[in-house]
Amino acid sequence: MLMIDYDLHCHSTVSDGLLSPTELVARAAERGVKILALTDHDDVDGLEEAAQASAACGISFINGVEISVTWRGFTLHVVGLRIDPYYPPLVEGLRGIRSGRRHRAELMAESLARCGIGGVLEGAYRYAKNPEMIGRTHFARYLVDAGHCKDVGSVFKRYLVKGKPGYVPHQWAELQDAVDWIKGAGGVTVLAHPGRYTAGRKAMGRPTMHELLEEFTAMGGKAIEVVTGSHTPPQYAEFARYATEFGLLSSCGSDYHGPGESYRDLGRLPDLPLECKPIWSAWE
Ligand code: AMP
Ligand code: MN
Ligand code: MN
Ligand code: MN
Repeated sequence: MLMIDYDLHCHSTVSDGLLSPTELVARAAERGVKILALTDHDDVDGLEEAAQASAACGISFINGVEISVTWRGFTLHVVGLRIDPYYPPLVEGLRGIRSGRRHRAELMAESLARCGIGGVLEGAYRYAKNPEMIGRTHFARYLVDAGHCKDVGSVFKRYLVKGKPGYVPHQWAELQDAVDWIKGAGGVTVLAHPGRYTAGRKAMGRPTMHELLEEFTAMGGKAIEVVTGSHTPPQYAEFARYATEFGLLSSCGSDYHGPGESYRDLGRLPDLPLECKPIWSAWE
């Protein structure tokens, strides 16, 4: 089997990854990745460092970002690839998203304090190398180390998802804005891990997924992730069918966050299903 050496989705300490951009690139290189995109949540601050580290170890680097979006009550993630990270509307838009995170974190901590878990705000900030990007993962890591749960996944289940005491609803960017920022920055817009969207415990049903993909393509969205660390093999097939149906390109990425925390390590992802048109087919 021909290995795909593309990994077009991963995180560094600039958002909620555990490795610095340089460490992340080194690990990708060790694992045979040839083309890598760094896609930190709502921030492009790691791209220069990652590009330099990539040049030093022969990786072809792609500037990326993963933008948090609210659409009909769902939190969606929209990845931008091959963006110009200095495009002012993108820079401003991302700054706007980040600025809401501090207040959300305070509300999360207050809510956890009401059910007897105190000191969480200061605790979580100790885990956020980039304080502007304080997020649920930093809370989770703190709560694990403070002995409340055995691992990050259990913290989410018990405290940080809709209906649980540490969950605070939040208004992220508009889908249209995220698409426009990425397009304006010269990038390709990718709907990240479409199989993971839920409202509470309920997965997004087929009719809603259809409406989302219709809107997304009409807005200028170009691709969806088919192979990602958050999809099961049956979902590779399911979203390959959606890609074909909506004329979308297909992307693949590990969504790696760090040692011991991700289903998938960097690179060595399964091939895209044969029917898919890879996102990089337009790049070569
Ligand atoms: P935030 O943007 O602060 O709401 O955090 C979202 C991040 O939390 C995602 O990008 C994932 O890294 C992480 N996450 C979300 N759900 C889970 C989960 N069930 N288990 C572990 N990590 C999760
Ligand atoms: Mn994350
Ligand atoms: Mn995501
Ligand atoms: Mn991600």
